[in-house]
Amino acid sequence: MIKINENYLQLQTSYLFSTIAKRVQAFQQLHPEKEIIRLGIGDVTQPLPTACLNAFHQAVDELGTASSFRGYGPEQGYGFLREAIAIHDFQARGADISPDEIFVSDGAKCDTGNIQELFSNDTRLAIPDPVYPVYVDTNVMAGRAGALKGDRYDRITYLPCTIENGYLPEIPTTSADLIYLCSPNNPTGATLNREQLTAWVEYARKNRSLILFDAAYEAFIRDPDLPHSIYEIPGANEVAIEFRSFSKTAGFTGVRCAYTVVPKACFGYTETGEKVSLHALWNRRHTTKFNGVSYPVQRAAEAVFSPQGQSEIRALTDGYLENAAHIRSVIQQIGFSCVGGDNSPYIWVNTGRDAWDFFDLLLERAGVVCTPGAGFGSCGQGHIRISAFNSHENVVLAMQRIAKALG
Ligand code: PLP
Repeated sequence: MIKINENYLQLQTSYLFSTIAKRVQAFQQLHPEKEIIRLGIGDVTQPLPTACLNAFHQAVDELGTASSFRGYGPEQGYGFLREAIAIHDFQARGADISPDEIFVSDGAKCDTGNIQELFSNDTRLAIPDPVYPVYVDTNVMAGRAGALKGDRYDRITYLPCTIENGYLPEIPTTSADLIYLCSPNNPTGATLNREQLTAWVEYARKNRSLILFDAAYEAFIRDPDLPHSIYEIPGANEVAIEFRSFSKTAGFTGVRCAYTVVPKACFGYTETGEKVSLHALWNRRHTTKFNGVSYPVQRAAEAVFSPQGQSEIRALTDGYLENAAHIRSVIQQIGFSCVGGDNSPYIWVNTGRDAWDFFDLLLERAGVVCTPGAGFGSCGQGHIRISAFNSHENVVLAMQRIAKALG
C-alpha cells in the first residue's frame, strides 16, 4: 500500500483565485456588455525588453551550429550571468557578494519553496502575515508548521503586519530560528527601511537564526534611502539568504529566471552545535535536484545588465510605478487609506469592511477585479490588493470607474 505524505492534508485549500474566477464569470454572464479590467493579477503585462529579446534570439541561433552548441551548463548558472549579477546587483551597492555565492534558477517560487529542505523539522519559524503564501505552504508540506488551529498553524510564529505597525513585521518576543522577510512585500507593498532591516539582522546574529529575504520586487524601489539587498546591512552575509527574480524586474514571468544568494559566511548548526556551511548544503541540493537554466534564457537575463537593458528595465518598472501612483492617489482621494505603490507594484487598501464584499462592490459597480487580502493570511482581512500590472490606459479607466462608483 502506497502511503502519502499526510502533511499535504494539513494544507489549507486556497480558494482565492478560483473563487475570484467564478465570481468574475458569473458577473460576465449577467453583464456580457461590460468590459472587465483586471487589477488582481500578479503577472506582468508588458513585453520583454528589446536588449533581452535580441540576446535571447542570438543565443538560440548559437545552439543551431555545432561549434557554438551548448548542452548541459553548470547547474549553478553560467559564469557570465553570475558575474554580471554580483557586480551590478551587489558590489555596486557596496554589498560584498561574489559570483560563486549566486545560484541561478528557474524561479524564486521554487527557491523560496525549496530552501526549507536544508533545515531540521523542529526549526522554529517566523513568517509575516499577510505574505506570499509559498513560505507557509512549503513548511506545511514538510511537516514543520504543526497542526492547523482555526486558520493558523500552531508551530509558526506569525508576524502581524497591520495598520498599527505600518504593515511591517516586528521582531517577535519569542525566539525564531528561520525568519521569512519579503520586502517590498507581496501583497502589502510595504518596504523595510535600513533601520528596521538592521534590527532584524542584529536579532538573527544574536539568536544564531537565519533570515530568508525575498527581494523579488527590489527593482521597484525608488526611495534612495531604502536598502535593495539585505547585504547592504553590515553582518547580514552571516545570517541571511536572499532571493531575487527577473520575473517582475524584466518581464520574465514566462521566460523563467531567478537567483538565490547563499553567502559562504552563512552557517547552520548540527544537533551538537557544530557549524555547517549553508552554501555547501544548498550547492549539494541544487546540483542534485536541478540541471540549470537554459542557455538562451541566461543570455537574455545577462542582457538586463547591459546599458540598454538597464535603461529598458527602468522604463518598464517606471511605467508600472506610474500606474501604482495613479491607483494610490485615486484610492486616497476617495477616502481610503492604503500603503504600497510607491516602491512596489502593489497597493494595499484598508477597505474598512469585509474584503469579499468590497471585491463584489468593485466588480459590480466598476467592473474592476482586485484581490481580497485574506488569501494572503488572516491579517489580510478587511483589505484588498490592487496590482499595477496592466496597461496605463486600463489603469486610468479602472480608476475612473472606481472613483465614479465609490467617490
Ligand atoms: N516571491 C514573491 C514575493 C512573489 O510575489 C513571487 C511571484 O509572484 C515570487 C517570489 C515568484 O517569482 P518567480 O516568478 O521568480 O518564481
